[in-house]
Amino acid sequence: MTELSDETIQEFRAALIENRKVLTTAIEGETESSKIVELDQSTMGRLSRMDALQGQAMIKETKQRHEEGLRKISSALSRIESDDYGYCLRCDELISVARLEVDPAVSLCIRCASLEEQV
Ligand SMILES: [Zn+2]
Repeated sequence: MTELSDETIQEFRAALIENRKVLTTAIEGETESSKIVELDQSTMGRLSRMDALQGQAMIKETKQRHEEGLRKISSALSRIESDDYGYCLRCDELISVARLEVDPAVSLCIRCASLEEQV
């Protein structure tokens, strides 16, 4: 497998920055929505409160997933800065470009990732 060219890395970097923007905006919205639910709780009936709590739990879950995504993006961007980008964090092998194209924030090669899933 060949190493990533600077050009390819810059493309992934741009995609990561774009994804980071999208996630940051989404998290801001989710933070707002969970605040609104908290404020309204005292004035709600029991059923709508349950609905609201369920909705809030869902928003919280989505927000956590987005925050996790943001962490992955930040670490991918810092790996670009330190010239470690594109290498598997576990075995140091090159991660395939096809895999990075699906998700530029991946930090494991396909082999290590599938090992991790089995655990
Ligand atoms: Zn690996």
